Amino acid sequence: MPADAASLVIVNTCGFIDAAKEESISALLDAVEYAHARGARVAAVGCLIERYREELAAELPEVDLWCGLDWEPLLAELREAAGREGSRPGGPGSAAKLSAVTVAVPRRARPVSSYVKISDGCDRRCAYCAIPLIKGEYEPVAAAEVLRAARAALAAGARELVLVGQDTSRWAQPGWGGLERLLAELRALEPAPLWLRLLYLQPDGVDDALLTALARHAVPYVDIPLQHASAAVLRRMGRSGDGEAYLELLGRVRAALPGAAVRSTFIAGFPGETDDDADELLAFVRAAGLGAAGVFAYDAQQGTPAADMPGQVPPELAFERAAQLGEAIDEAASAFWAGLAGRSVDVLVERGTSRADGVSVGRCALQAPDIDGRVMLSGRPSRRGDLVRAVVTGSVGYDLEAVAGGPGS
Ligand code: SF4
Repeated sequence: MPADAASLVIVNTCGFIDAAKEESISALLDAVEYAHARGARVAAVGCLIERYREELAAELPEVDLWCGLDWEPLLAELREAAGREGSRPGGPGSAAKLSAVTVAVPRRARPVSSYVKISDGCDRRCAYCAIPLIKGEYEPVAAAEVLRAARAALAAGARELVLVGQDTSRWAQPGWGGLERLLAELRALEPAPLWLRLLYLQPDGVDDALLTALARHAVPYVDIPLQHASAAVLRRMGRSGDGEAYLELLGRVRAALPGAAVRSTFIAGFPGETDDDADELLAFVRAAGLGAAGVFAYDAQQGTPAADMPGQVPPELAFERAAQLGEAIDEAASAFWAGLAGRSVDVLVERGTSRADGVSVGRCALQAPDIDGRVMLSGRPSRRGDLVRAVVTGSVGYDLEAVAGGPGS
C-alpha cells in the first residue's frame, strides 16, 4: 500500500547506541511531518520508546501513539480502525477486518532470506550494554514457535533462514533439546531451507557440540562478537577470554568448518583502554583472518556500569582508534575474500539479471544478508531466489565477482 494512502504510519525505533537513537528520532520527525500533512497518525514503537517513553512523549507531543515493546495499544488501534472499516456499509467482513486497515509498510519483494528470532533479552550484563535494560532477561522462544515462524517464512518463499537473538548459542528448551535438535528440525522442514545461519554466538558458548551441529546443519559462517582482545579491557567489560584464547577458538572453528567466514564486532576506546590495549587489538585482528567485523567507537550508555567508570577515553581518541581498527579489518578481510579466487561457490540470487549489464547480485554462503558483501554474478541469466553454481573470478574489498558455471552447475 502506498504511504500516501495510509491512515497510520508506524516507526520502529532502536535505542542501542546514540547513532541509532538519533536516526530513530529523525525518522520519527520525518514521519510526523509526512503523515500529519496527509491526515494520518504516527505510532512510535520499539526499544528506544521502551527505554525513554516519558522523556520522548514530553519532547515530541506530535506523535500520536507510543508503544515500546508492548504492541497492545497499537493492536487495539488497528482493531478499532478495522472495526470502523467493517461497520461501514460495504465494508469488509470481520474475517478481513485487520487487512482493511490502511497501514504504511515498506513494499518488500518476496523474501530470499528471513530472520527468525530464537531468543530475546540477555542476562550477561556486559558493562557497556543497554540491551538487558531494554529487553530484560534472556528468554528463549519456544521450539514450536520458532518452527512455526520458519514454516511461514519458507512458505512465503524464503530460501535462507537466519536465526537471531542476543545470545543464540545458549538456546535450549527443557525436555525438548538444544540447538542441535532445533537446527536438525529446521533443516527437515518442507520446503527445506537451502541455508541455515546462526548469528550472535557469544564466544564462551561456542563449544565442540555447537560446532558439530553447525557443521551438520548450517552454513560455514560464524558470527562471534569478541569486542576486544586485551584481557584487561575484556574483564572491565565483564567478558571472558583474551586474544590468545580467541585465536585458539578461531582455530577450532576452522577445524570444524573448513573455509568458514568469521564475522565479529569490536569496541574501540572502552574506559581504561590504553595505547597498548589498542595495539593488542590491532595485532589480534591482523592475525585472526576475519571475513568481516563491525567496529564501534565506545559510546557511553546511560544506566550502564561503564558510563561511570574512571578512565573514560576522549571521544576523538576513541574515534581515531576505531578508524585505525576499521582499516586493519578492511585490509585483513580483503585478503580473506581475495583468497577465494578460483573457488566454486553457490550464489543465492537476490537481484535477478539486469538487462543493462547482464549481471545479477547475490550472496554466497560465506556472506550474511544485510551486513556482509555481495557476489556480482555474470555468465548466465538468473532470477531472484535462484541458487547458481559459480566460480569466483575476483574480489573488490568485501564483494566477490563470479561467473556462473563450474563443477556441479
Ligand atoms: S552479551 Fe551482548 S546483548 Fe548481552 S549484555 Fe553483552 S553485549 Fe549486551
